[in-house]
Amino acid sequence: MEQLTQEERMRLFNGVGNWNSFDAGGKIPSFSMSDGPHGLRKQDAVQETEHYADLNRSRLATCFPTSSCMAATWDKTLLRELGKSIAEEAQVQEVDVVLGPGTNIKRSPLCGRNFEYFSEDPYLAGTLAGEYINGMQALGIGTSLKHFTCNNQEKRRQTSNSIVNEKTLSEIYLRPFEIAVKKAQPASIMVSYNKVNGEYAAASKFLLTEILRKKWGFKGIVISDWGACIGAPKCLKAGMSLAMPDSNGYFSHQLEKVYKDDEEVRSKLEEANNLVIEAAKKWNGGHRDNAPSQIDFAAHHKAALRFATNAAVLFKNDGILPLKEKSKITVIGGLAATMKFQGGGSSHISTAPYPSALESLKSLGYDVDFAEGYSVKIGDVSDRGYQVAIEAAKKAAEEKRPVLFFCGLTEEFEGEGFDRANISLPEVQTKLLDKILELGADVIAVTFSGAPIDIYFADKVRAVLHMYLCGEACGEACAELLSGRVNPSGKIAETFPFSEKDTPCYGNFGGEDDNIEYKEGSFVGYRYYEAKKVPVRYEFGFGLSYTSFDYSNLEIDLQKKTVSFDVKNTGAVRGSEASQVYIQKKDAPYPELRGFEKVMLEPGETKRVTVILDENAFREYNTEAHNFVPSAGEYKIMAGKSVRNIVLEQTVQVDEKTAAILPQDTLSSVENYIPDTALYNDFFTDCHYEAHHKGTFTSADTFGDMAKESFGVRIVLKIILMILLFSMRGKSKDDPSVKIAISAIEENPLESLISITNGIFSEKLVAWIIKVANR
Ligand code: BGC
Repeated sequence: MEQLTQEERMRLFNGVGNWNSFDAGGKIPSFSMSDGPHGLRKQDAVQETEHYADLNRSRLATCFPTSSCMAATWDKTLLRELGKSIAEEAQVQEVDVVLGPGTNIKRSPLCGRNFEYFSEDPYLAGTLAGEYINGMQALGIGTSLKHFTCNNQEKRRQTSNSIVNEKTLSEIYLRPFEIAVKKAQPASIMVSYNKVNGEYAAASKFLLTEILRKKWGFKGIVISDWGACIGAPKCLKAGMSLAMPDSNGYFSHQLEKVYKDDEEVRSKLEEANNLVIEAAKKWNGGHRDNAPSQIDFAAHHKAALRFATNAAVLFKNDGILPLKEKSKITVIGGLAATMKFQGGGSSHISTAPYPSALESLKSLGYDVDFAEGYSVKIGDVSDRGYQVAIEAAKKAAEEKRPVLFFCGLTEEFEGEGFDRANISLPEVQTKLLDKILELGADVIAVTFSGAPIDIYFADKVRAVLHMYLCGEACGEACAELLSGRVNPSGKIAETFPFSEKDTPCYGNFGGEDDNIEYKEGSFVGYRYYEAKKVPVRYEFGFGLSYTSFDYSNLEIDLQKKTVSFDVKNTGAVRGSEASQVYIQKKDAPYPELRGFEKVMLEPGETKRVTVILDENAFREYNTEAHNFVPSAGEYKIMAGKSVRNIVLEQTVQVDEKTAAILPQDTLSSVENYIPDTALYNDFFTDCHYEAHHKGTFTSADTFGDMAKESFGVRIVLKIILMILLFSMRGKSKDDPSVKIAISAIEENPLESLISITNGIFSEKLVAWIIKVANR
């Protein structure tokens, strides 16, 4: 540190290029970063310059199942293995820190990035994120837990303001981050773009210092999401350590202006600099001593296949599955030939081609009659192929061969920077499916999406297998599961509602206004559906198997905070069961997931399962203590197959002393946390954000908002968008990479455009646009 000039110290607050920290001409170590979360998106220099022009160009890597899919495994060991496998690729590609995992709560099934997140339940999301981090960091590769916090929608994600009360924030939205931080100490936390309670998360002292460091004891660095640093001095003071990406001097200029007169800026800069240097020392280079010389793609592909087969969820089966060996089947749907296995945006992985479901079924010896039926091409809603598919279905109905209908969300529906409007499947697919059902065919639906979709056909088909977005081995995974070579054991880590209209935040999500009130409070996901007894298509934790399981002999140890029971495989094939423990205090509105374990059982085998409970199992959040406190009373303890399929339960009285005992593997806690009540009061009052208008626009406002009020800005915006679209010519406007680029220009604060374009969008240009807007 001593060797750094004042200029270099300020420079160190900002990254170099898109993916590196500053090394002060070799005086200090630096580290490199690449996206995650379900694989490595390492871009070469030429690809890097096209970062926002084409997110999809990066080095070859293994695309593992996305997080919503991995969560459906309910398997901590697999999450650790996922972290380890990506770390091995990072070692070879000389990446020091992987930008993942993401552990935001799924407030609505419509969020475009839900596929990158684990669950609607904070305990499950935090536990799985912690396992991933531990798996990766054990190999010397750092992680960046993202996006901290309340980044629950993509619409206006760069400026939206999540308004949320203290109890809800602590119990639901902060909790997964808290668990992962305490369990695994990620190398870094990526702070999100959005505002929380009126201020940018990236500029919030309450979030970045009071909560993250003081309350949870976070030791790593806080990195801004790419372009989320709005006002370098404020973000620095709040607790940010590194602003990404390179702003071409802009952040240094901002710091220079205040450096001399602002003691807090000087001391915070020293703190941030030290943390970044520490991180570079810890995560850079050394770990590569034991690195493999090349990526073992074959082994990783096998792992990706194993993860996918452990995650797929069997929603329905009247006995038609598994398919009879080498039988005659009819496969309909473009998604059987062109697999949909990942979403759009910064998590997009470039993979080698692997067999589709169609090819994989054929190579297992099935006699397949195939019809494409609909196109998977972005924006193609023509009914080309419809008639051929109908003929194939007619023939299948006559010959009594099952029709495997492959359907789901195609490229344009799920990605970063945009949300869905509803949970419906594309109309070209539903029109075809409805007709096939009318013909009386025996239909098995195989579905693909990273978030809940409307399985409205559940009662009319004979089986439904949901594959999620399950990575590059998707095709082979479909064949293994449909043929019965592997028995499905995935369970959904989120609720599949009948309609988006049933969701607790309906009408209060993704609007044009920046202010989003989290009016449903902690009634998120199953907490809402259970409390209000809302019927759902598939409840949280649900998933079937080709075998069946019995539970017995429930035992609760309140001192050790464990719940034990026997699980027996009562069917004829081997299978795995994800057992769940829910706890509900008397008079509490809903049960909560407090533990889970997955076990594999041979036919007839019984295993004793012991679940260690969440440390908060007998605590509740107290807004006076600003913390979780022990809570005595009567509790119902339930073990089951899903939140609505409880098979064992017992009611216990828990006194204050017992409630306070923590389980054996409890998370490390900061002792004697004394809350700064003034910061709490400040953070939870006056939470609305007042939008700026002509005359008051600043660099924290967006092109889009300025254009609404200024003819001059409208023209400038039009020209910039034209240039952008020209540079992306050949791509459909529905292509996720086009959508994200447009949303970045229209919805990023102008200041953010300076850094995400590495200064091409200059400080001067921004000043001029603001002048025009305010004129
Ligand atoms: C995304 C992050 C990602 C970063 C770098 C941002 O737009 O929100 O998740 O890590 O870009 O690509």
